[in-house]
Amino acid sequence: MAEFDVDLFVIGGGSGGVRAARIAANYGAKVMVAEEYRMGGTCVIRGCVPKKLFVIGSHVHQEIEDAVGFGWSIGQVSFDWATLVANKDKEIARLEGAYTTNVEKSGARIVKTRAVLEDAHTIRLATGETVTAKYILIATGGAPNHGPAVPGIEHVISSNEAFHLKELPKRIVIQGGGYIALEFAGIFAGYGSDVTVVYRGDNILRGFDEDVRKHVRTEMEKRGITIITGSTVVKVDKHGRDFTTHLSNGSSIASDQVMFAIGRHPNVRGLGLEAAGVAINPANGGIQVDGWSKTSVDNIYAVGDVTHRTNLTPVAIREGHAFADTVFGKRPVQVDHATIPTAVFSQPEVGTVGLTEEEARAQYSHVDIYKTDFRPIKATMSGRDTRVLMKLVVDGSSDRVLGCHIVGDAAAETIQAIAIAVKMKATKADFDATVALHPTSAEELVTMRTPTARHVRQAAE
Ligand code: FAD
Ligand code: NDP
Repeated sequence: MAEFDVDLFVIGGGSGGVRAARIAANYGAKVMVAEEYRMGGTCVIRGCVPKKLFVIGSHVHQEIEDAVGFGWSIGQVSFDWATLVANKDKEIARLEGAYTTNVEKSGARIVKTRAVLEDAHTIRLATGETVTAKYILIATGGAPNHGPAVPGIEHVISSNEAFHLKELPKRIVIQGGGYIALEFAGIFAGYGSDVTVVYRGDNILRGFDEDVRKHVRTEMEKRGITIITGSTVVKVDKHGRDFTTHLSNGSSIASDQVMFAIGRHPNVRGLGLEAAGVAINPANGGIQVDGWSKTSVDNIYAVGDVTHRTNLTPVAIREGHAFADTVFGKRPVQVDHATIPTAVFSQPEVGTVGLTEEEARAQYSHVDIYKTDFRPIKATMSGRDTRVLMKLVVDGSSDRVLGCHIVGDAAAETIQAIAIAVKMKATKADFDATVALHPTSAEELVTMRTPTARHVRQAAE
């Protein structure tokens, strides 16, 4: 009789868990996956995918406005939020089905229930059954933070609810200045809501390049989004169907929805981590792991948002894949977390890879900056008041391109390709040797000849 019921028990059927389960099963392991909500996890069900669908739809408004300068005259247009939500739900249900089928096809078994650890080799299902496993993978993801319990917090929605609103809010207040706040600000504004973003610091997108932060803010404001900085929400009052949001600066805003997008926390609570001896990383509250995604317990691994390393889907997928290769495929693989490209699907979009100017200056003694901001060709005829930002951060000593930052249409698509060059340690000379593709915005990345700034730190005497 086998020593354990399964070779691998995966807790969480999201990006990381699904990839690990499928690859391990392909290697011949007997695998069970527990999912307490919907297969596919955050990205598929209430993250990247429905968000991108909402973003795509919200661009149409601007396309219609821009079309006039190109000779189009478009009659009365209307938008129906309920149709958008219903069609999105249909697509998400299709994807959920595809995820389920693919896991089952790989030979892994799905149990649609909550699972927690009882000890280092035993999992207890919410049904009361227990399963023993040689290896356990924790891939439980994360959930929205609610922040300090301000009075009226029960009226506030998170991104989870934003995907299922019955009506498009006419006015919405969104607290936060990161990915989700800015993406939803663009979504709601695109569909016609009056949007106010409330951010606690001096400018949105902390951690991004300073020029990117300034550029995005200016462009969002040009599109009619109000951004209030240096303030937090201190209270939310409800009157009938309306809300009044009170800010720490003493002002208040009327709206018909209030949303917080103030970060996410790893799903570790009630998982039985103490019973199994799995340690938490005190620095970030996620499960502590080494470079192999192994926890403090030898046979228990953790991948994705629950480890709170880089909370992006492709990273969770890589970590899950590397775990399965290492443990079941006899192909030890560590995930390289350096130089991960990322995009904020705000409007305008941000695409970024590598170091910011500030980070480069802290790490390198000679940093050259190549920066341009310009009116994109489309704006010359649409008449839209908008500018694109492109920036390269270069190590002046080795000529290596350390970072690239773009704000404008197709920034995410462009940065995915540029990330290959940056990952390959391309030099500025390599960029210069590449012939421009005209007329594009991205051609600026290979035609910027003269540094716009040069930072040379003198060696200490
Ligand atoms: P998840 O995908 O969160 O999966 C965890 C799963 O575990 C969930 O299905 C959960 O129900 C289940 N679970 C939890 N506890 C248990 C338990 N005890 N028993 C059984 N099941 C359990 N990333 C990008 O790269 N690009 C984007 O554009 C992007 N957009 C996003 C937009 C939003 C609004 C949000 C919220 C996130 C977005 N992300 C994006 C981040 C991305 O969704 C996550 O990084 C990714 O889903 C993490 O995958 P994961 O496998 O770690 O966890
Ligand atoms: P972010 O970490 O991106 O942003 C959180 C924002 O909330 C920051 O502006 C932060 O301010 C602010 N904040 C934090 N705590 C408080 C508080 N107590 N009161 C007021 N403001 C606060 O988190 P998100 O929730 O936007 O997204 C979570 C993660 O999901 C992202 O970091 C990313 O990893 C992933 N994601 C990725 C996407 C993509 O790839 N396009 C899209 C959406 C999510 P401060 O900067 O001052 O700390």
